[in-house]
Amino acid sequence: MRRSLSWAFFSFSCLMAGLMSATIARGQGLEAQARELVADYESRLRPLEITAALAWWEANTTGSDAAFAKKQEAETALDKVLSDTARFAKLKACDEAKLDDASLARQVRLMYLGALAKQVDPAILERMTALSNTIDMKFNKYRANVNGEELADSAVRKTLKESKDSAERQAVWEASKGVGAEVAPDLATLVDLRNQAAKKLGFANFQAMQLYLNEQDPAALLQLFDELDALTKGPYAAAKAEIDAKLAANCGVSVEELRPWHYQDPFFQEAPAIEDTNLDAVYADVDIMAVCQKFYDGVGLPIQDVLARSSLYEQPGKSPHAFCTDINREGDVRVLANVVPTEYWMGTMLHELGHAVYSSKNIPSSVPYILRTDAHILCTEGVAMQFERFSKSAEWLTEMGVKVDDPAAFNAAGARMRRNKLLIFSRWCQVMFRFEKGMYEDPQQDLNKLWWDLVEKYQLVKRPEGRNAPDYAAKIHVVSAPCYYHNYMMGELFACQVHRALCAKLYPGKDSDKVTYVGDPRVGQFMKEKVFAPGRMLPWNELTRHATGQELSAEAFAGDFAGK
Ligand SMILES: [Zn+2]
Repeated sequence: MRRSLSWAFFSFSCLMAGLMSATIARGQGLEAQARELVADYESRLRPLEITAALAWWEANTTGSDAAFAKKQEAETALDKVLSDTARFAKLKACDEAKLDDASLARQVRLMYLGALAKQVDPAILERMTALSNTIDMKFNKYRANVNGEELADSAVRKTLKESKDSAERQAVWEASKGVGAEVAPDLATLVDLRNQAAKKLGFANFQAMQLYLNEQDPAALLQLFDELDALTKGPYAAAKAEIDAKLAANCGVSVEELRPWHYQDPFFQEAPAIEDTNLDAVYADVDIMAVCQKFYDGVGLPIQDVLARSSLYEQPGKSPHAFCTDINREGDVRVLANVVPTEYWMGTMLHELGHAVYSSKNIPSSVPYILRTDAHILCTEGVAMQFERFSKSAEWLTEMGVKVDDPAAFNAAGARMRRNKLLIFSRWCQVMFRFEKGMYEDPQQDLNKLWWDLVEKYQLVKRPEGRNAPDYAAKIHVVSAPCYYHNYMMGELFACQVHRALCAKLYPGKDSDKVTYVGDPRVGQFMKEKVFAPGRMLPWNELTRHATGQELSAEAFAGDFAGK
């Protein structure tokens, strides 16, 4: 980010006393202005944020068009305030003044970054929005076509999961990638526009801008991913060798003949289902919500009020996904889910309720509205992941009073599944992070080649012979959630690091793999003090130091796989 250099040209020959008093007066004026901006945020933007959150909730629970329209209306009104250039100029001046009041300075910083994101040239913004919508529609309409037959996404996944016929897998996989070629020209234009917008705001490229807006340093992030690469390379290769042997045997081919279509998931971002032990059997008669309530009660982070406001089971028109939302930052926290008694939904509910406890429910009301939320997306994802892990632990289930017939087999399968899931995801995140970095730095390069070079290097998946197609463009996140993927990975690192710090403090000497938190209110106390209480007062890296005494690193994450 370029900053104005005008102060540097001030001559020191001017009267120091006069300059100092002018600086103090200017500082006081800016502090008053900053307080006005905060008051304005709370009176004008807060109601719009609450309206948008309520409309979003209604839209997702009912599928109502009117609710979607209401959400859109509130967001448009928000954008109008955020893009206001006069307001932005005031925020910039207050931000650059480095105010003495730390809470006020932090609130200004966050308002400034929120407004900076909306200072994009309106003509470019309009073209970017139109192009994104065009590409989204192409994604929605696209169906893989195999021998004249159109396949829904679920049919593609079913074949890639179940078929033992390599030729059939290949045909379906190739057809599923066809969307890449359809959207690639539009995506190239969009990337160009995103870079133009970023450059006009003083950034080297769009990725650099996105990282700046998220308070992340590109060089430090690259270093973290390099470290993660070095620590996961060996364990990943070993885990993948096991997986490859099973997948090859399943299709009657040699390991050398395995190609991307053998990996069940079209991008190999998820672990293939290869376990003989079925974790779902244990959950068939379990009341998932009762277990959640008992668990969170036991750790001193009760969630009854959240469940009472939530929408937990399937109903017509409702979103099939799961999420948690803090409606008003005054304790109105809700979860949307579609719970059925399986291991997946046990893990998912532990995850969503992890978000729910890291919210205005447990961030003190004395923290100002702008700061009364999680420190960063990676921190709230991290807390959710920290609690999610227990659904695969026989110790946790037994302590929660759920009967596990063969705990050793359950734990062995659960540990392998978790290991495979996290290692596979970490290598896939390397591809996404490095591809987007390369694409925004040099959009003219051979992107088809860049993509497959990265897939081969980090995922150890062989590119199909002679393939030259824009397969990266078949990943919708590249279009609709650009330069964002690394946050999921950093969330996993945060989860492992906080868990280890908690174990070191509360359970010294105990294997952190065996710690279950069950019935221990000290866990809630630790989380409240070390993670929740500061809200967004601390940036994510400072919160990590506050909670764990160390910088965010890949060490704890990799430690979970050492020798397994
Ligand atoms: Zn989440």
